[in-house]
Amino acid sequence: MGGGVAMEGLMMGTQLLISSLIRNADRNHGTTEIVTRTVEGPLHRYTYRDAHRRSRQLANALGSLGIKPGDRCATLAWNTYRHFEIYYAVSGMGAVCHTVNPRLFAPQISFILNHASDRCIFADLTFVPLLEEMADELEHVEAIVIMTDDKHMPRTSLPNVHCYESLINGHSDDYDWPEFDENTASSLCYTSGTTGDPKGVLYSHRSSLIHAFRSGLPDCFNLSARDAVLPVVPMFHVNAWGLPYVSAMVGCKIVFPGPAMDGASLQELIENEKVTFSAGVPTIWLSLLQYLEESGKNIQTLKRVVIGGSATPRSMTARFAEKHGAEVLHAWGMTEMSPIGTVNHPKYGMEDETPDQIYDRQIKQGREVFGAEMKIVDDDDRTLPNDGKAFGTLKVRGPSVCRAYYKEQRSDAHDENGWFATGDVATIDPDGYMHVTDRSKDVIKSGGEWISSIELENIAVGHPDVAEAASIGVHHPKWDERPLLLVVPRNGCDLTREDMLEYFNGKVAKWWIPDDVVFVEELPHTATGKLLKIKLREDFRDHVLPTAHQS
Ligand code: ADP
Repeated sequence: MGGGVAMEGLMMGTQLLISSLIRNADRNHGTTEIVTRTVEGPLHRYTYRDAHRRSRQLANALGSLGIKPGDRCATLAWNTYRHFEIYYAVSGMGAVCHTVNPRLFAPQISFILNHASDRCIFADLTFVPLLEEMADELEHVEAIVIMTDDKHMPRTSLPNVHCYESLINGHSDDYDWPEFDENTASSLCYTSGTTGDPKGVLYSHRSSLIHAFRSGLPDCFNLSARDAVLPVVPMFHVNAWGLPYVSAMVGCKIVFPGPAMDGASLQELIENEKVTFSAGVPTIWLSLLQYLEESGKNIQTLKRVVIGGSATPRSMTARFAEKHGAEVLHAWGMTEMSPIGTVNHPKYGMEDETPDQIYDRQIKQGREVFGAEMKIVDDDDRTLPNDGKAFGTLKVRGPSVCRAYYKEQRSDAHDENGWFATGDVATIDPDGYMHVTDRSKDVIKSGGEWISSIELENIAVGHPDVAEAASIGVHHPKWDERPLLLVVPRNGCDLTREDMLEYFNGKVAKWWIPDDVVFVEELPHTATGKLLKIKLREDFRDHVLPTAHQS
């Protein structure tokens, strides 16, 4: 600083706290609705003011259970108004809201609950049997709160059980949210651990608020008080991509789908509640689109659909635009990034894009959202050019990116200069659009060159008779690996290997075309809905390619 002394600004030191979001929603959008399809069945509706009042009651109730700042409270729950209240009560009082993915294998769930030393668990009715199964293994849990009312309380062998509604009704809403350092931990989410044990990402109030500010931006989710948001992405998956926070920040209506995420249930909610915005993984949208096509029903109010978690196929963007008038926003991120890293919006000067140009652009994962700086590097950690051609390991840094994993001494993914290696391989073009070409462990290595498994899958699902597809590298005596394509045909379709391979002609370089196609009834998925490539590689390890004997 040239020997000078930096001056301190004279602005208020108001800490960025999660409680400020719900206070804001109550003050400015107190009568705006939050609608839920409940686990019990019927629709429930109330307002931000009600949610705030009940969150304060819950904060008092947690105090009565002995929960103190810093304690971890777990949830095993769907997207509902009660889960929303838990988000605000637990973090607001200074404790840590630990959302657990109930789709993980039971031993992984008990590992996570013990690793986080959760003192209290909130569970939806759906997950009571799951908890009963593992109750004996839980080392730190002192209270289990079943998220229902007295009337629906199940008979259970679980110890120290409370009924959510009775618990909060026994407490007043007289509660002042405490002020504390914005760097305090607010919530905890474990990555699904497709390799090794799950790892905990511990968010802070500051990182969550910064993420909320930027996710509302026009070139991110573009949310305002004029929207009705349907978070289909689960609240146990990276805080539903931060939607419960940004919604309270901008004051939009929220529509929670509860456990019913099938096409018919989603369509009904979108139409009846006039939903304008939604977000979720491609698999969910595939089943909604299929339902719409079969039933002839509409989703007229829906304007924007954020799709991420896996690559969005071009055909999906086109179907949403052409048949339903909805704009697809392809997004990319990770649990470690809170999660948003990039979203795909056009820039000034792209107003005249034809539909085909739009769909082509939307194949890419999008541009950096402020606060998630990115670069690509080669194997020696040298930065590669943003020319849209060079591809390398994608690294990120910023205030909403984790700097370490919970209770882990070291992390191979973090380098000494403060960058985090995402495990994705990508290109970045001169306009800043990033394109994930693969997970570094999924890329198919053929004769020393790389083939993008994602691109092959995207092309395959563009075939009208294909419901889902996966591609993996299998051993080849000459090329080391060659692509094998696994295809789930659409119901009743009579697809042949030759049809499928022919479909790739002209769409990729000849040497990228898979060597073989196997038709399967279904593909394995991870707990977050991604293709479980590890399992596929195991299952097809001994698959002999028809090309194996040719030289
Ligand atoms: P997990 O717990 O399965 O790692 P994450 O949500 O943290 O769950 O997964 C992040 C990874 O998901 C990214 O590193 C990337 O590989 C993949 N991913 C997310 N969004 C996209 C996308 N739009 N296109 C391709 N891959 C994506």
